[in-house]
Amino acid sequence: MTLPADLPVVDHHCHLSPAGEGVEAARRFYREGGSHLFLTTHNWNHSPLRSVEDYRTQFESIEKLAQRIEGETPVRTSLVVAPYPVDLVAASDALGLSKAVEIQMQTLDLAGTWVREHRAVALGEVGWPHFPVPEDQGLAARQIFRHALEVAHDVGCPAVVHCEDLMAEGYRALSDQARAAGLSPERVVKHYALTYVPGPERSGITPSFLARKEGVAAALDDDGPWFLETDFLDDPRRPGAVLDLATVPRRAAAIARDHPDRVDRLRIPFVESVRKLYGFTPQRRAEGSE
Ligand SMILES: [Zn+2]
Repeated sequence: MTLPADLPVVDHHCHLSPAGEGVEAARRFYREGGSHLFLTTHNWNHSPLRSVEDYRTQFESIEKLAQRIEGETPVRTSLVVAPYPVDLVAASDALGLSKAVEIQMQTLDLAGTWVREHRAVALGEVGWPHFPVPEDQGLAARQIFRHALEVAHDVGCPAVVHCEDLMAEGYRALSDQARAAGLSPERVVKHYALTYVPGPERSGITPSFLARKEGVAAALDDDGPWFLETDFLDDPRRPGAVLDLATVPRRAAAIARDHPDRVDRLRIPFVESVRKLYGFTPQRRAEGSE
């Protein structure tokens, strides 16, 4: 069995870079059966961003890349924008912590404006470094994250969270943080979810599972909401990391081939969860329309 023709195939979290494979990667994704990318901005220059203007330039570059993808391939894109939480570390070293915090806070406001203007669908990645950092930076990251949750609430969009892998307890804590900032946990996505935690233990948070074989197998029994992602970095220094952009369509095709009775379960990450979190229904562009 092949995938149903009307089934969108969605990678919920990836990065493409003007300095990397860019549009070609999206073309490859399409050839394997992919249709929708949630394209998340990131720092592809590997040097600290020193101002809100630097972030604005970054957002605009990724928006241009998304427009090229939409113009040159049948793939549809949704932008997710924010100052990457780990940027705080390098920026603190370069500019001092308080300046680094100020830039992240103001960039979150900018990201909120982009959502209001419908140039982006969510705030992400927001959160905190997934590795130990000096205490003052750790506290600052939490403060910035709180602001991110408030902005997401104010502009009415999901927050896509970067942090260490979570178990039930971590999901509960994240859910509490969201609620304390006024954001419903139903609007929070934990990106890069590695460990499968059953729905009732996720405290209302939606996991975006890394599309490894075992991860997908566990998720298929889950009634959702949940997503699949590659977290593809499009970084020439780390080719194919985290997972290659072709992975989500390949996993979907493998399910159609090996477990045809389960293909309908893919509507959970590719249709229902998108509708629930983002309020739109992904639809494949007609064949041949570029
Ligand atoms: Zn990422």
